[in-house]
Amino acid sequence: MAFEGLTSKLSEVFKKLTSRGKLSEQDVKAAMREVKMALLEADVNFLVVKKFIKTVSERAVGSEILESLTPGQQVIKVVNEELTNLMGSTVSKLTVASAPPSVYMLVGLQGAGKTTMAGKLAGYLKKQGKNPLLCACDIYRPAAIQQLKVLGEKLEIPVFEEGQKDAVKTALHGVQYAKDNGHDAVLLDTAGRLHIDTELMDELKRMKKAVDPHEILLVVDSMTGQDAVNVAQSFHDTLEISGVILTKLDGDTRGGAALSVKAVTGQPIKFAGVGEKLTDIEPFYPERMASRILG
Ligand code: GDP
Repeated sequence: MAFEGLTSKLSEVFKKLTSRGKLSEQDVKAAMREVKMALLEADVNFLVVKKFIKTVSERAVGSEILESLTPGQQVIKVVNEELTNLMGSTVSKLTVASAPPSVYMLVGLQGAGKTTMAGKLAGYLKKQGKNPLLCACDIYRPAAIQQLKVLGEKLEIPVFEEGQKDAVKTALHGVQYAKDNGHDAVLLDTAGRLHIDTELMDELKRMKKAVDPHEILLVVDSMTGQDAVNVAQSFHDTLEISGVILTKLDGDTRGGAALSVKAVTGQPIKFAGVGEKLTDIEPFYPERMASRILG
């Protein structure tokens, strides 16, 4: 289960807090030190943790809370609210084009779950009554094109592909094909590498310029913790992403990526991948996630 370590550590801290009737400023400060350790151990970005603890502490040591009848509960409430804020506070919907098709470009490192997520998102949009098109722009690995075609068949959603010719042209032609055939959403599955490299980034930049997508969604593997955040920062610096999709939240991720990526990039987490099945996709609700982390 995701966040297991963090959840159990936080619940220990909170148990101590609520077991006392009255709390002093020192008690809260000591608890905050423990929350800080728990977040760092969950691989949350150091600067994010620092700012988070500062905000929570400022709110929690106020007389309103310390003199309340249930100070422990009040502190937990503040932590819950600030965890929610950290992840974006509200649910972020996909931008929809005023003149269809809406073009969604999925980017990310190899293995992050991009192709799977392209399929999941297409299925999700189809369920909402849209008529999506999948477009295979990862031209370097024939297996990737094949993988997308298999997903398309399962979902009964067409896949546009031009083999291994030219990724940018494939994207352009795919969008044109969508326009000509009444598809109101296009999902571009782009190439990923094991590490960020300039050649790949150049291609993605050219693709962005050519098709002017409505969203650039960065798919990140939540299991990679701090690394996921560094990757997000680099992609954002080069491509100005519009949102993040966290995958593999069903795994035993410590939580660092989910808790840092919004704060570091300033971009919202829009969806979560929660399993290998095509239906394992959920809109990302920061509030629900915070409650889940608090157990
Ligand atoms: P890509 O290289 O970024 O296109 O990654 P793939 O879509 O091929 O996914 C890589 C692996 O991660 C595959 O084995 C997927 O089944 C798996 N995967 C993708 N998303 C999830 C998820 O949300 N949960 C789990 N458990 N596995 C996932």
